[in-house]
Amino acid sequence: MRELIRPCLGCKRPVRGKPRCVDCQRVKDLAKRAKRPDLHNDHAERQRRARVVADHRALLGDWCPGWAKQPAHPSADLTADHVREVAKGGRPDGRLVVRCRSCNAARSAHLAHMAGRILTRMTAPDPSPAEPAITHLDDGPVVA
Ligand SMILES: [Zn+2]
Ligand SMILES: [Zn+2]
Repeated sequence: MRELIRPCLGCKRPVRGKPRCVDCQRVKDLAKRAKRPDLHNDHAERQRRARVVADHRALLGDWCPGWAKQPAHPSADLTADHVREVAKGGRPDGRLVVRCRSCNAARSAHLAHMAGRILTRMTAPDPSPAEPAITHLDDGPVVA
């Protein structure tokens, strides 16, 4: 069966069986994703997290590396979490870190509580007091 050839909705080049050429479709998808960042949290992001957890398990076994307030300990309940939380301005596709569920939850709560200070420590380990890299606002830290 022959598919219909029609002009691409983007660039008007003739395309077969699709509303857009490959290039225009890619641009369109990117724009759609930019408008709906929650799409990142869907299928692909879940798979990415599962892969990160599986890699961690293959390398270290059922082991939680802990966090600032909790030393490393064995745990089978591992989850992947953003190093820098999306809610705090991190990229949805940013680096992930594997911890147990309770450490991740405790750390998130702690971060939400101490947002400014802990972020300063994480992003600027030796900040000069005269020139702070991060300004603190009421609704969270903003990288200057
Ligand atoms: Zn096109
Ligand atoms: Zn843990």
